Amino acid sequence: MSETLKGACLCDGVEYEVQDPESLGYCHCTRCQRWTGSSLAGVVVAKENFRFTKGEDLVKRYESELAPRNFCGNCGSSLYDDLGEKYFVAAGLMRDLELDPSFHLQVAYKADWHEIGGDAPQFAENPPA
Ligand SMILES: [Zn+2]
Ligand SMILES: [Zn+2]
Repeated sequence: MSETLKGACLCDGVEYEVQDPESLGYCHCTRCQRWTGSSLAGVVVAKENFRFTKGEDLVKRYESELAPRNFCGNCGSSLYDDLGEKYFVAAGLMRDLELDPSFHLQVAYKADWHEIGGDAPQFAENPPA
């Protein structure tokens, strides 16, 4: 798939582009729940395919356990979870996203009130490598 998605935070101070999104899925870990208020729906993208087009100076980084969290320092919008070679980019900021969810991670830690719908595969923690 070759496509470009544009994302913008709540205050429109930060804008970015993502090339060639690889997949869309949910992370249900407790860190994502605390970061977003719920599970994190994210798009997997190679880090070299992510670039800021506006407001990079507003972006703040929280050195979370395992994966640093990057967010807008003005409005607080979650931007992406830095997994090293890949970024997990918050899906709700990209209005033209048309991928179907293809995985649920860390389901063992999901909130009791969160009922997972759809038929995307669910993994208790991470999918087998
Ligand atoms: Zn913002
Ligand atoms: Zn997570």
